[in-house]
Amino acid sequence: MHTTPHPYYRHTDPAACWTTHRNRQDLTFWTSVTPDDDADIDTTTSHLAARTSLSTTTTLTWLSIVQLLRHYPVLAAHNHDLGLLDHPRLRAIEHALIAVDDPDIITEVDKHLTTFLTPTKAAEALPGPTTIRRFLTPPPHRTRHPAAEHDTHPRALGIHFRTTGTGHTQIQAVLAADDALDIHTILRATATAEDTTLHDALLGLLRGTMHNPKVVYNLYGPDGDTPTYLAGAGYLDDRQARRWAERITHTRTMDPPAHTTTLTYRPTEEIIRAVKGRDGTCRGPEDCGIDAEACDVDHVLNHTDGGPTTPSNLQCLCRRHHLRKTRGDLNLVMDAQGVWSWTYPDGDVVVTHPRGPLSRPGTLFAQSFMQRRAQRVNKRRTRPDPGGDNPGGGTTLLNNPHNGQSPPRAVVGRGASISRV
Ligand SMILES: [Zn+2]
Repeated sequence: MHTTPHPYYRHTDPAACWTTHRNRQDLTFWTSVTPDDDADIDTTTSHLAARTSLSTTTTLTWLSIVQLLRHYPVLAAHNHDLGLLDHPRLRAIEHALIAVDDPDIITEVDKHLTTFLTPTKAAEALPGPTTIRRFLTPPPHRTRHPAAEHDTHPRALGIHFRTTGTGHTQIQAVLAADDALDIHTILRATATAEDTTLHDALLGLLRGTMHNPKVVYNLYGPDGDTPTYLAGAGYLDDRQARRWAERITHTRTMDPPAHTTTLTYRPTEEIIRAVKGRDGTCRGPEDCGIDAEACDVDHVLNHTDGGPTTPSNLQCLCRRHHLRKTRGDLNLVMDAQGVWSWTYPDGDVVVTHPRGPLSRPGTLFAQSFMQRRAQRVNKRRTRPDPGGDNPGGGTTLLNNPHNGQSPPRAVVGRGASISRV
């Protein structure tokens, strides 16, 4: 008789029980030494750093994690049950949520993040720090939590110059992800057009000896609403979304490409957008978190073996995971429900999920709840695509047939590409 396997995270199986044991022990220790929220955190940090021989930064992060978890009891209990989260994952959560002080948002985040960190399939890969950070981004409001006064993360936006004294100057820029993507995209396009380096492209643009090339961006969002996700940068807050909405030149419905097949080996631009929008990051078995925009689009079943060029047979893989699959270090099998499982040479199996803006509803939490924007799931907008695959700019509008059928999924309906002129 066939039975459905119990869902669990891959790292909690018996072979890796030391991980869950260590995770619980870490939190048990730090919980026992973390003072009340209003205690003198500097003195406590200094004292504990001396006792543990850890850096003050690491010590302070642990204290902040424990203080944060006190406000997220559902997550804390879930984490204790499964021994789930290690220091990098807890740090990602602490970093993303430290500024959240609205009790209603905290309650909702507590519930949704716990759901997000609950396995739905057997042998599932535990979300990595990058995936967790993506899920929780953007923070809803930048109101300051008392603990944030001690936050050591470099959040202040700005550009800083530091002369090294060795004939070089270091420039550090801390930018919003969408601004950084803008700069990176323009620099790469300029470097390609001028056949030069990013360094020379930057100087050429600033000095006026080179000109802004035409570049294309891809946005995803609900039908009839502002965009919510910028490919290569992640979810947008309201201010960013409004700004990018003004730059949209094409809108495109994403459902037809999701079911389109092309006879060629290389997928069409529409199919690529459907695959990257669905996966969000590399689908490799360790949840490396590398953005889909930096990934190859790989045939699950090789094209030469009859694998069709269609989203259901395509996935995003970073270069490292793509090479391992090509070399045969890892095998990929797909079940009748379309779930892909990685198989190691010893038969061990790991399952990964797509996490892009076109994937399952839970992924949309970051934009659907954190931004507190009304979702208009029943409104369909159709406009013919005059520009096809949008080779050098233009506008495409895409529509989603899930509208009204399954509201959470309907939010993924619209994808848009925009171009700079
Ligand atoms: Zn990867």
